[in-house]
Amino acid sequence: MKIVIIGNGPAAVAAAEAIREFDTKSSITLVSKESSPLYSPCPLAEYVEQSVAREDLFLRDDNFYSQQDITSLRSHLAVSLDPASRAVKVVHEGLAFDIHYDRLLIASGAKAVLPPVPGLASVPGVFTLKTLADADAIIDRLGKVRQAVVIGSGFIGLESAQALVRRGVKVTLIEAQNQVLPLMLDGEFADRVEARLTSFGISVLVNSPVKEVLGGGSGVTSVRTADREVECQLVVSAAGVRPDVAWLGSSGLQIGRGVEVGDRMDTNLPDIYAAGDIIETSKWNGESDVIPTWPNAVTTGRIAGLNIIGQDRRFQGLLGVNVVRIFDQAISSFGVREGERILTEQNQDYLRRLIIDKGRIVGGQFIGDISGSGIYLELMRKQVDVTAVEGALLRPHFSLARLLAAPPRPRVSAA
Ligand SMILES: Cc1cc2nc3c(=O)[nH]c(=O)nc-3n(C[C@H](O)[C@H](O)[C@H](O)COP(=O)(O)OP(=O)(O)OC[C@H]3O[C@@H](n4cnc5c(N)ncnc54)[C@H](O)[C@@H]3O)c2cc1C
Repeated sequence: MKIVIIGNGPAAVAAAEAIREFDTKSSITLVSKESSPLYSPCPLAEYVEQSVAREDLFLRDDNFYSQQDITSLRSHLAVSLDPASRAVKVVHEGLAFDIHYDRLLIASGAKAVLPPVPGLASVPGVFTLKTLADADAIIDRLGKVRQAVVIGSGFIGLESAQALVRRGVKVTLIEAQNQVLPLMLDGEFADRVEARLTSFGISVLVNSPVKEVLGGGSGVTSVRTADREVECQLVVSAAGVRPDVAWLGSSGLQIGRGVEVGDRMDTNLPDIYAAGDIIETSKWNGESDVIPTWPNAVTTGRIAGLNIIGQDRRFQGLLGVNVVRIFDQAISSFGVREGERILTEQNQDYLRRLIIDKGRIVGGQFIGDISGSGIYLELMRKQVDVTAVEGALLRPHFSLARLLAAPPRPRVSAA
């Protein structure tokens, strides 16, 4: 059997490794537009900051592919899919050709969103932080930079701002909404994060949609909001990511916010699977969503790989978990931010919150002390009834072993 995988990220490699555990005969071809072996984008900000070395980003070396008998086509861009002829058209060094498959896995990930702001896509010196090439380009530019603007205060925006400050750059963080980490935290949590950013010298502007990026051929000179102009020689646009489905437009694949897949990572077309950041599928509570995280990519990649070779493996649902450390302050959140009951514990060092609905945990936010968040997450995923121990849930050293052994209850509705 000829298996073709588009991508060389964690979803693609997890799929290839799962296939090779059980099937040494099928051919596997990985197709990637990038030129390097598998690396992790998660520490890219630390790489810019120079606290992580370039070689430590790589999770597999070139030998891995030959040892696993995987053909790795790098610098090959997939441009279209024709399910009728079972072929993916790719372009390499200006030449287009077809690669045929018996089974196809689409694991080509997400792309950084560039808001429609004049100048953002055209003025030199504006970067995203999505790939290793992006990080290298930022590092190359840093020699000319005294001031930078980071647009967007999600976790990549915050990590970028921190990295630039640690490289000696004066940073202004600009957020369109009324708080930092707007998708992750309630206002009182965000206030603590903002205070921390400010104490490390970052100027934070909230309620400030960017109107224009100004500059000329030699680079960006400033960023304009409704009420001010911020001088800068570098911009990092960190306005989120979305599944990169443009190349699949005419394929007949069912595409909503991402490539829609069932719990076997199967698409609406025969013998075509998808996994990782590009997919839209059910969450832990049954609702359909797109949640681009490393653990979701590895798990869905593995499940896709096993189903491709005929093993019936089912996915339990996407989990949305965010963990970030900003100037040594740990922050984590998961699930939703509203429910019937809100449990909060706080002092000057930490703020911890659980959201309870119909006796079950449906979300949590932690800052300063994130201990236990993995266990709360597991209780949420298993929908364990925590009513009997609700008052003690946030107390230090509370043992949850007894609760975890309880059988799951029927699911309740929650986002
Ligand atoms: C800066 C940063 C920090 C992050 N930090 C965290 C974190 O702390 N925790 C966490 O859980 N997640 C984090 N993530 C998200 C995590 O990295 C992704 O969820 C994960 O990498 C997705 O894996 P994937 O295999 O689906 O896609 P990707 O890792 O994006 O890989 C996609 C692959 O497809 C290839 N490709 C794309 N389009 C084409 C095409 N048309 N033709 C051929 N090849 C193509 C690419 O070259 C690449 O090899 C971070 C992401 C970034 C950018």
